Amino acid sequence: MTAGPARTANADLRDRFEAAFMPNYGVPPLALARGEGAYLWDADGARYLDLFAGIAVSSLGHGHPALVEAVSRQAATLAHSSNLLVNEPEVLLAERLLGLLRTPGRVFLANSGTEANECAAKLAIKYGRTTGRRYFVAAENGFHGRTLGALALTGKASIRDQFGPFPLDVRFIPYGDADALKQAVTHECAAVFLEPTQGEAGVVPPPPGYMTAAREICDTTGALLVLDEIQSAIGRTGHWFAHQHDGVVPDVLTLAKGLGGGMPIGACVGFGDAGVIFAKGDHGSTFGGNPVSCAAALAVLDTIDHDGLLAHARAAGERLSSGIQALGHPLVSGVRGRGLWLAMVLSAERAADVQAAAQRAGFLVNAVQPDAVRLAPALVITFEQIDSFLAALPAILAEVTP
Ligand SMILES: *Cc1c(COP(=O)(O)O)cnc(C)c1O
Repeated sequence: MTAGPARTANADLRDRFEAAFMPNYGVPPLALARGEGAYLWDADGARYLDLFAGIAVSSLGHGHPALVEAVSRQAATLAHSSNLLVNEPEVLLAERLLGLLRTPGRVFLANSGTEANECAAKLAIKYGRTTGRRYFVAAENGFHGRTLGALALTGKASIRDQFGPFPLDVRFIPYGDADALKQAVTHECAAVFLEPTQGEAGVVPPPPGYMTAAREICDTTGALLVLDEIQSAIGRTGHWFAHQHDGVVPDVLTLAKGLGGGMPIGACVGFGDAGVIFAKGDHGSTFGGNPVSCAAALAVLDTIDHDGLLAHARAAGERLSSGIQALGHPLVSGVRGRGLWLAMVLSAERAADVQAAAQRAGFLVNAVQPDAVRLAPALVITFEQIDSFLAALPAILAEVTP
């Protein structure tokens, strides 16, 4: 028997993943073993600087002591209660979120982003039924999730159309065009679903004034303004919530990703009257309000607060963004986004190659679009870690440039 090259643990896990899982994800390029702060190690022991934090989820990085302590303590104390009984962490979390939002409202806790949006959609359906409003408006290229309600609102034909028709009548408008929004929203529109910056579309911010215009259009027509902050909130932009930066208060807000710091949790917040649309029995979730996920979210919020991570996200994001732009590399046409939620925009559709070259150099980035590389690291990433990426970037880009 001739000795071939040793099988790597990465290759072994990827092969077994491919054999055991549905093919919906393709086969991811790496198997992760562990993490610490902004670093990750793969199954073969190689270290990477994690610059996308599991899609803007691991807000405190990996293995943060505050999160580990909160989750361990809560798992040992009470891991589940169901919605038939109240637990203290869920109450503390709802109160804490409402305090940060500084607007009276009510919270529903779910387990993911798509479920938070499903809750928002059901609120809007019920609101529409009682006020004679029959349709929804959402943005082209917007992403709201994969369940049938959230998918109906998702403006990407390639992932939506084959699963229709949907139970919602959704009209799509180009993102960022306030006139198109005004045309589309009438007194028969139940709700407008928007992201404050489109995440999956490639971290695409709207033009200045768009969110204010959306608020005015909804005020005039009585449609609910639902802001999907599943990716943009919990410090990602250097503010607790992106809408606070825009100076616009939605009627309904959805949260998930960064809230649990890696533990699954989603939240839908209704403000004012929108907080009391549901009556008893209208909605529910067995795991929603799970005390372990709520304890994790409380640890995330406390740590962001105590460690000044909002200010750090602004400063670190500025350093990353201006450092990339200062390279003046011909493959980079610009940087979009704010805080630690950025897209390095390429002058050619080479994002997948940049992601692969970065991985070979020990940096994990995300080719969110063919011409856009998403950077959404943990809010705890240090200036030194950012500088190490900036120092490596010219060689990464040189590998890709034809
Ligand atoms: C990720 C995301 C979702 C879906 O969240 P899941 O937790 O994957 O269900 C919805 N909306 C936005 C804006 C997202 O970024």
